[in-house]
Amino acid sequence: MMNKRGMVTTVQTRIRTEPFSNNYDLVGRELGRGKFAVVKKCVEKATGKEHAAKFQRKRRKGQDCRGDILNEISVLELAKDNPYVAGLHEVYETHSEIILVLECAAGGEIFNQCVADNDDAFTEQDVIRLTHQILTGVAFLHNNNVVHLDLKPQNLLLTSTQPLGDIRIVDFGLSRRIDAHMEVREILGTPEYVAPEILNFEPISTATDMWSIGVLTYVMLTGESPFLGEDKQETFLNITQGVVDYSQEVFEGVSALAVNFIQTLLCLSPEDRASAEEGLNHPWLNGHASLTHTPLATLPSLDEPETSQSESEPESPSPSPELVSMHPHPLCPGQGELKSGCGAFSFSAPFPTRSDIQQELIC
Ligand code: ADP
Ligand code: MG
Repeated sequence: MMNKRGMVTTVQTRIRTEPFSNNYDLVGRELGRGKFAVVKKCVEKATGKEHAAKFQRKRRKGQDCRGDILNEISVLELAKDNPYVAGLHEVYETHSEIILVLECAAGGEIFNQCVADNDDAFTEQDVIRLTHQILTGVAFLHNNNVVHLDLKPQNLLLTSTQPLGDIRIVDFGLSRRIDAHMEVREILGTPEYVAPEILNFEPISTATDMWSIGVLTYVMLTGESPFLGEDKQETFLNITQGVVDYSQEVFEGVSALAVNFIQTLLCLSPEDRASAEEGLNHPWLNGHASLTHTPLATLPSLDEPETSQSESEPESPSPSPELVSMHPHPLCPGQGELKSGCGAFSFSAPFPTRSDIQQELIC
């Protein structure tokens, strides 16, 4: 049964009430923490196997959040056979907390590689492999009408780092079910990764996750965050304006196909964005990435074909054949006109009046 906010709070997993410490020993230091949870490594006494225990309070800011945690459990149950979603092993409940015992992703957050210097940073081949895994996991969720709504480097973990392992998607705390009969509009997410429709309070869809995957891929390839501003307000303005820097300086050494892949996702209008299945079929993820290392932004514009044309007809109807091959997937309408460089415009435009609420509500 789904509630009106797109959450399912019925779960199959037995919720254990005996003390967690009867069955597990905590070992080592904390694995991580987020806005609400602390995650610690533990060993199951009966098996000696390592797991990650996610401790969450049921009350947050004076509100009962047990339903949110049950919703998280129900998504983990649904995705239990997907190799790229961290498995759920057991659940414990005390008077104040719910503890999820999860498959341990020992390699930690991909965030570490995203902000690392050259030696530890991902290569494009790494990003291709990991993006394929992320899209496979997300396509599974989307095919089951689940949207994650908080895809970002802190919620995408690795099974190992040396050698670089596989992706495990975690943190279904904001996930929602979507179906044809119900619109979910909510202000959720993390400023840098949030899609424009969330800021405009328009319906959430699977495309909302695809935007975040566009931001994520940008960050994995360049180490730069495409919309990050000085503060949340500036970040939100950058997102709603959809101006993205695809310049050669940012994408040095990155293939043109990678840039094209990102461009199919960072489209302001959700309908224009590639789906997870379409993303999986993009040539960048299918062995064509070595074609060129020239970012699309530096190629001759589609508006300026080599053949001479009068100044009065700036819009050329037919791009040259090579350029068509450079555009294996159509870009969002209007994308050709975007200026590069988030710093290339001023922030004088008034931000929508709802911004104050957003500042309050977004984690
Ligand atoms: P929150 O909802 O508070 O963001 P998360 O589920 O994202 O909680 O967990 C917080 C952090 O704990 C993650 O960003 C990650 O660093 C770590 N973590 C979460 N799940 C696991 C896991 N299964 N294995 C290893 N580390 C994890
Ligand atoms: Mg998290």
